[in-house]
Formats: sequence, C-alpha cells, structure tokens
Amino acid sequence: MKYNIFVGGIHIESSTFTPYRSGEKDFHITKNDELLKRYPWIDKYKDRINLIPIMHARALPGGIVKRSFYDKYLKDFIQQLDLALNQNKLDGFFLDIHGAMSIEGTLDAEGDFIRVLRDKIGFGVPICASMDLHGNISQTLFDLSTVLTCYRTAPHIDTAQTRERTLTNLLAVLDGRKRGKKITKAMVSIPILLPGEKTSTQVEPGKSLYAQIPRLLQKENILDTSIWMGFPWADQPHSRATVCVYGFNKDDTIACVKELADKFWDYKNDFSFVGPVASLKEGLQNALESKEKPYFLSDTDDNPGAGGDNDTVLVLREILNLGAEKLKKIALVSIKDEQTIKELKSKQIGDYVDVKLGGKINRALGGPVSATMQIINRYSDTIAGDILVLKKDKLSLVVTSNRYQFATEASFQNAGLGSYQDYDIIIVKMGYLEPDLSSAAKAWTMLLTPGSVNQDLKSLKFRNLARPLYPFDDDFTPCLDVYAREA
Ligand SMILES: [Zn+2]
Repeated sequence: MKYNIFVGGIHIESSTFTPYRSGEKDFHITKNDELLKRYPWIDKYKDRINLIPIMHARALPGGIVKRSFYDKYLKDFIQQLDLALNQNKLDGFFLDIHGAMSIEGTLDAEGDFIRVLRDKIGFGVPICASMDLHGNISQTLFDLSTVLTCYRTAPHIDTAQTRERTLTNLLAVLDGRKRGKKITKAMVSIPILLPGEKTSTQVEPGKSLYAQIPRLLQKENILDTSIWMGFPWADQPHSRATVCVYGFNKDDTIACVKELADKFWDYKNDFSFVGPVASLKEGLQNALESKEKPYFLSDTDDNPGAGGDNDTVLVLREILNLGAEKLKKIALVSIKDEQTIKELKSKQIGDYVDVKLGGKINRALGGPVSATMQIINRYSDTIAGDILVLKKDKLSLVVTSNRYQFATEASFQNAGLGSYQDYDIIIVKMGYLEPDLSSAAKAWTMLLTPGSVNQDLKSLKFRNLARPLYPFDDDFTPCLDVYAREA
C-alpha cells in the first residue's frame, strides 16, 4: 500500500539586523500542482507514495517576518491541512523549511511552526524536514522532528537532492517502523557561529568537514548525517552550528555524531574568508587598476541573499564621487528602490532623470544618493517586480521594486546589460559568488562595507546568543555533549 505523505512549510532566511520587515509581497505562496513542481523527482516514487501538497511559502532572504503575515499564513496552512486530513490518512509529513526564519514576537520561529504542526497531527506521525545548511537548530525543532537534513554544498547546488533525501529518509523511517525498528536521533550543538563567507564547502576547512558525511554514511545502520553551519545574523539563543546523525543503532549513531562534532571543533581556527577581502575604497581602487576583466566586487554586507537591506548606496556613492574620468565600464546590480520606480513611472526610455537612490531602509548608513541618470531599459519580472536600468557615464545601474539578487548571467542579460565579458567591473549584492559569477570572474574581491549582514560579527549588537560562543569568546572548553533520543 502506498504511503500518504503531506508536504509543505515556510522558507526564508531572516536577518534580525535589518530594519526591513518581510511580508506578503516578499513571499511566493504555492499550493496544489504548483507546489509539487518543487519536487521534480517525484515520478520516481509514484508507486510508493502519494505526495499530497498542503501549502508552501518561499521568500528571498530578508528581515524579520511580520506577525500579521505569518499569522494569516499559518491559519491558511492549517485550513489546507484540515482539508487534506479529512480526505486522507496521513502517514508522514515532509516539512520544507529553510531554518533561519525569524518572526516578530518569538525567538524560535521554526520551533513554533513545528509545535503547531505537531498539535494538529499528533506525535505518532514522522516529520522529516529539508533545510538549508545555514539554518539554526533549536531544541524544539530537533525534539519535535523525526529526521532533519540539510544541503551539503555552499554555494548550494544540491537543493533538489536534499529534498529528495528528505523523502527517502521518511520512507526509511516508515519502512523501519513496519519492521519494529526505531531510529536514534543524535545532535551536538557546536559553539561556533560564522558567516557563510568563511564556510564554503568548496574550500578548506569546509571541504574536508563536509567530506566526512559520505564517509560516515558508508557505516552500517547510519541513515543520514548533516552539518549546519548556522546563520549568524539572527540574534537568537540557538544561532550556532549543529551536527546531527540519524541511525538504526543507538551506539553507532552516537559514536558518529561525536566524531563529527570533535572534528568540527578541531577545524575552528582554520575558517577564514573564502576569497580576498578589502575595504570599500581599497577594493574599488584595486578593481580600477586591475588589467583583469570582468573584475567582480561583492557588496558583501548588503547581500540580500543573506538578508541584507539590498538598498545601501555606499558603493554607488563612492563611484559617483570618483568622477567619470577615473571610471572603467561598470555594472552595479542591483538596488531595491520601489519609491524611485514609482516616481519615474511616466518617464520614457532615453529620458534623463534626477534620482535620489536607495538608502531608504537603513537610514543609519547615510541615506539616498542623488544623481542625474539616463533611463536605458525598463521591464518587469515576477520576482524582482518593476525594473529600471539607469546609466551615467560608464556606469550602468539596475533598480528593482522588490528585493532581488542578480545571481545568474541570464538575469543579467535579461536586464539588457549584455554579457559579463562586456564589463571591466561588475558589482553585485552578494557575499561569496554564485556559480555563474565565479566561473566568469577573472578577479574578485569581497568589500567589507558596513550593513545589516556585517561580516564583522563582533561589531553587531547581539543580546540573545548563548555564550560562550566562538568567535565572540575564545579560549574556552566547549561542551560537545551528545543529545540523543529514539523516534
Ligand atoms: Zn544557505
């Protein structure tokens, strides 16, 4: 007989350091067949399961989620769940989350979500979750879930495989129960909290750390092994790295998680920026003097992919101050500025316009920058919203009405900017480069600018972190105790 698996959740990474609040227009909500498109491998399992879509909300990383939006979403989610429960016996729940969500009024968003889900479906039904490795694992999330798993790559190129593994974990749990086998779940909370720009799995020590996973999975009785690097721009007690191992033998599972935790702690001092870093002035100067092109500059601390404001104009101001004669051909993608786009609605392509760009979300960073620019393109996109491409001298600049990240060359070309090769310097609102960009970059520097996802974690005002925690504290003996239970 086929298992009935319900699927749904909510997926966002929230910086608690941006004044921006994520709400209805930031989320794309899916139900029915549209939700099932997230799982392109589903046909492989059609003889074994019925995958029943409940509801899913997905947003680009942003700020804390507005309580009003969340409460409404949760109500709709429960309503959809009730409908499905009335029509189907539930065998297992596939929870599709990011793991670094924040909501107004709670310090444990995913913990609260799974508690509501458990209240509804009871404790007997397994819940397996797929997550981003930049998620933070609270005690509640670990306790109320059956198996948690996360990406094994950063940049994330295994999202589809991770979601598929969530389903195979669920099948293994359900099949195991039929044979009277329980699983042991084991977790070690690692007192380390680092930005993704220091923990890519493509360079050491992240590479060697994540290489432990396939090695441990070779062992008999081990079902899954995951490493969360955690998300540092969430001021919460459970923000930190975590390792989890799940298996059908208690001793083996505990031994594996302990080994992994010890290894992680041993690597602590080896994590460093995955690429060259510089101050804004120094980095821009290096790029202008370089013979390599395209030279990518990451405006790291305004990275919307980590919850940055996406509208700071420190880099833009510096470029405009330099003056046309000192510039090379530059593209800056992109700045969110809904107000400017609305104000320029009646203007035509080719018009010269006076603009006050960006700087509206986080006023502490100097406010908007004024310039006269020419409109060279205008279009719309389902995620980015209304888009304007502006030009001044050798600088091309993209402005979007919604938060957006130009993470592929296709999106760059779609803006009418041509190819990466056409530019000397490309400035992106990103930290480490996504694959399209890193393969095109002939040179690259991460600019350490102040912002809501500041790489200098010690400069941010945290109030809720559990201490001691590296790098805020050093020279302490870590508690790497294993927390294990049966499920
Ligand atoms: Zn991530």
